[in-house]
Amino acid sequence: MTEEFAAGGLSEGISHGSASDRLPVVAIVGLPNVGKSTLFNRIVKSRLAVVDDQPGVTRDRNYAPAEWGGRGFWLVDTGGMTFEDGLGMDPAIQEQVELAIEEADLVVFVLDARVGATAEDEEAFRLLRRTGRRVLVAANKADDGEAAWDVASIDVGGVGEIVPISAMAGRGIGDFLDRVVAHLPPEEPSPEAIPGEVALAVVGRPNVGKSSLVNSLVGTRKMIVSEVAGTTRDAIDTIVERDGTRFRIIDTAGLRRRGRISRGVEYWSALRAMRALERCDVAAVLFDATEGITDQDVKIVGEAISRRKGIVLVMNKWDAVEKDHHVAERFAERVAWHFPFLEDAPLIHSSALTGRRVDRLLPEVARLAALRARRIPTAEVNRVIERLVAENPPPSGRSSRTTRILYATQVGASPPQFVVFVNRPKNLEGHYHRFLENRLKKDLGFTGVPVEVVLRQRKSRERDR
Ligand code: GDP
Ligand code: GDP
Repeated sequence: MTEEFAAGGLSEGISHGSASDRLPVVAIVGLPNVGKSTLFNRIVKSRLAVVDDQPGVTRDRNYAPAEWGGRGFWLVDTGGMTFEDGLGMDPAIQEQVELAIEEADLVVFVLDARVGATAEDEEAFRLLRRTGRRVLVAANKADDGEAAWDVASIDVGGVGEIVPISAMAGRGIGDFLDRVVAHLPPEEPSPEAIPGEVALAVVGRPNVGKSSLVNSLVGTRKMIVSEVAGTTRDAIDTIVERDGTRFRIIDTAGLRRRGRISRGVEYWSALRAMRALERCDVAAVLFDATEGITDQDVKIVGEAISRRKGIVLVMNKWDAVEKDHHVAERFAERVAWHFPFLEDAPLIHSSALTGRRVDRLLPEVARLAALRARRIPTAEVNRVIERLVAENPPPSGRSSRTTRILYATQVGASPPQFVVFVNRPKNLEGHYHRFLENRLKKDLGFTGVPVEVVLRQRKSRERDR
C-alpha cells in the first residue's frame, strides 16, 4: 500500500491511433480541497507535457488520456461538489456531478482520509448509490503509512471499495491505479475499418446545431439509412449512402446546456468531440454563425488539425444571421485569421433548420476523404521539394555547413505522410518544417487536408565522397 509512485511507471503509450475513442472514462468527483486536481495531475503529468506540444491544445484542460498497466483511459477532473450550508447539495453542482456520473465508466470519489466521511460526503454517497455506477473511493491525504489502517474504518455507505492514497506524496497511487483498472469495463475489440467507408465526425460546441444537422442529413430521402451501435457506449453511428459512397456519421450531440451549468457541459462535449475525432476521416466542425468563432471552436479545430483529419468548416444557423452584402466576406476573413492553415478548407454556410446547403456537406466530405487517400508518385514529390528549396533555401544551422534536402517520399495515406531526408534535420525544425508541411499540402493539392512531414537524417552524398 505504501510503495512510492514513480512517474515513469505511467507509459507514454497512447498514440493518436484509432483506439482511444474506445477508451473508458474515469471521472474524479468529491468535495473541494480534498485533492482532486492534485490526484489528476499526479496521474496525467507525464502525458500532459506531450499533449501540450500540439498546436491548439491548451494547458487548462481538465481531461487527459492516461494509461496504467497497458490499459488506457480518459481521466476527467470534474471540479467538485459544493453544498449550501445545511441545505444539501447546490442543485447546479448536483447536475454537473450527475452529468459526470452519466458520462463516466468509473467514478473515483475522493475524500480527506484525515477527516473521514463528512455529512456532505455521505449525501454524495447516497446520490452515487442511486446511480448504480461503479465507484472507487480514494481516501486522500493518507500521507504517512500509519493512516492506511484508519481508512478501513471510514464508512463509505457501501458505494464502493476504499483505497488510501497520498496524491501529494505519490503514495499508494500504484495500488490505486491497479484498482481503477480492475473496475474498468472489459476492453472492446477494435472494429475493422470497412474499406471504402468514410467516417465523418460532426463536432462543435453544445447548441451549434449538430443534432439538427445530422437529422437534416439523414432525413434526405435519397439516402439509405441505418443505425448501428457505435463503438462507444454512448455514441450511435449512423450509416448513410449517397452517390455510391458509404458514410459513417459519428454524432457527438446529446449533451445539452442545462440551466446554469455550462462549464461541465463544455468539457464533456469537448471530450466527446475528441473521441469522435480519433476515429474519423473527415471532421465537420460546426460554428454558430450568430455567435461567431469562440475559443472553444478554435480548440476543436486545433484538435482536428493535430490529428490530421480532413476538415469542413460549417457556419451553421446562417438563416439567423442578419445579412448585408459583406457579411459572408467578414466571416471568411475571421476564419482565415483564426485558422491560417485552413484557408483552403471548404466553408459551408448552412442552416440545419431550413435544410439550406446541408446537401453540400457529404459531397465535400467524400471529396476530402478521397484527397486524403491519394498517393503522390515520388518523382512528383521531389519536383515540388526542389521548387520549394529554390524558392526558400533551408537555413544552415549554427555550423555554417549547408543543409541539404536529399529527397522526399510519401510513406502513408489517410492521413498523407511524407518523409523528407535531410543531412541535418535539426536545422529544419520549427519554422521550416511547418513551411514544408504547408507547402507540400498546397502544392500537391491536398486542399483542406493537413499533411504530416517527418524529417529524417541521411548523409549527403557530397560528404560521403
Ligand atoms: P481539489 O479542490 O479537490 O481539486 O483539491 P486540490 O488538489 O486543489 O488540493 C487541495 C489542497 O490539498 C492543496 O493544498 C493540496 O496541496 C492539498 N493536498 C492534495 N493532496 C494531498 C495529500 O495527499 N496530502 C496532503 N497533506 N495534502 C494534499
Ligand atoms: P447541438 O447541441 O449542437 O446538437 O445543437 P442542436 O441541434 O440541438 O441545436 C441547438 C439549437 O439550435 C436548437 O434550438 C436548434 O433548433 C437550433 N438550431 C440548430 N440549427 C439551426 C439553424 O441552422 N438555424 C437556426 N436558426 N437554429 C438552429
